[in-house]
Amino acid sequence: MTRRIGIYPGTFDPITNGHSDIIRRALHVVDHLVIGVARNDGKGPLFSTDERVETVREEVAHLENGGAERIEIRPFETLLMSFAESVKASVIIRGLRAVSDFEYEFQMAGMNARLNPNIETVFLMASDRYQFISSRFVKEIGALGGDVRHFVSPRVATRLLDQFARARQQAR
Ligand code: ADP
Repeated sequence: MTRRIGIYPGTFDPITNGHSDIIRRALHVVDHLVIGVARNDGKGPLFSTDERVETVREEVAHLENGGAERIEIRPFETLLMSFAESVKASVIIRGLRAVSDFEYEFQMAGMNARLNPNIETVFLMASDRYQFISSRFVKEIGALGGDVRHFVSPRVATRLLDQFARARQQAR
C-alpha cells in the first residue's frame, strides 16, 4: 500500500486554532503530513521563520488524539510545487474560510495544477467555531491589547504578548 503524503503550506504567523483544526482534519486524509512554514518575507511576518516553525512544533506536540508522529514540520522558501515534489507529496492541503479566500485559492490551485497535474489540491473547512479566525486579525487584536486567547492556544498567546512587549520596548 502506498503511503499518502500531504503538505499543508502556510505562513503560520502565528499558528491559530483554525490552523490546528485543519491539521487535525488533514490527518484523516493523508498518512503523513508535512507542514510547510513559508519564509514569506514579502508578507513582513511578525515572527521569524524559526519562531514560527518552533510554535507550530509546540502546537503539534499538544494535538489531542495524538497524530504528532505522523507530522513533520519544515520551513521552505522555494516554489510550493517544488517543495511538494521534494517531499513526494501527492496532495496539497489548504483551508477555506470565507468566500473571500475562494478567489485566491482558486487561482493558486489552478496554477499549481498546471505546474504539476499529479499533485491534487484538497480544501478543508475548519469547524464553524474556528472558521472566522485569521492570523492577521489575531495580530491586530493582540497589538491593541485585546484578548487573543479565544483564537490561539495559551502558548501562542504568551508568545504574542512577549513579542508585543518587546516591540513596545524597542519603540521607546
Ligand atoms: P498563507 O500565507 O499561505 O495564506 P496562512 O498561514 O494565512 O498562510 O494560511 C495557511 C492556510 O490555512 C490557508 O489555506 C488558509 O486559508 C488556511 N487557514 C488559515 N486560517 C484558517 C481558518 N481559521 N479556517 C480554515 N482555514 C484556515
